[in-house]
Amino acid sequence: MLSRTSRATARSFRPNFSQSAVIVTPRRTFLSLFKSKPNPSPFQPVTPPPVTLAPDELFHPLSQSPFPDLRERAERVKTMSICPVSVERYNERVRPTFDCPDCGWPAHKDQQRWEEGREEHTEYCERLREVNEDDHDLRSGRRMSEFEGMPSESMSTT
Ligand SMILES: [Zn+2]
Repeated sequence: MLSRTSRATARSFRPNFSQSAVIVTPRRTFLSLFKSKPNPSPFQPVTPPPVTLAPDELFHPLSQSPFPDLRERAERVKTMSICPVSVERYNERVRPTFDCPDCGWPAHKDQQRWEEGREEHTEYCERLREVNEDDHDLRSGRRMSEFEGMPSESMSTT
């Protein structure tokens, strides 16, 4: 004879087929164990193809760069710097979230503050754009002919 607790446990583990709408079909049968090749795992790592850029595709806003490390750099700038116009004109210490359309760097709080500080920003903007394009060029996948024909490190320097 079952005790009261045992009966309650037995009742609670009784399968209730009338409420179950899920039908589980085993993916492997006994005979499939003898197949020569197992099914490939759906969790195998997939290596994305390398990003390549044409010479006329070197400028990207850093926040939308095809290269993750440059997007990460934009995020660092956004978390560590302060919008200069907001500090100087509004006494607000806010992070830049607006990417300058000319250099691609996060420069100001928003478009309005960027337009207000555009004159001061032009002092740095051209140089920042060069850095942006150089960083994308270095990652573009193109052959770096600039470094061909240079003396190798194996030559002695006396
Ligand atoms: Zn700029």
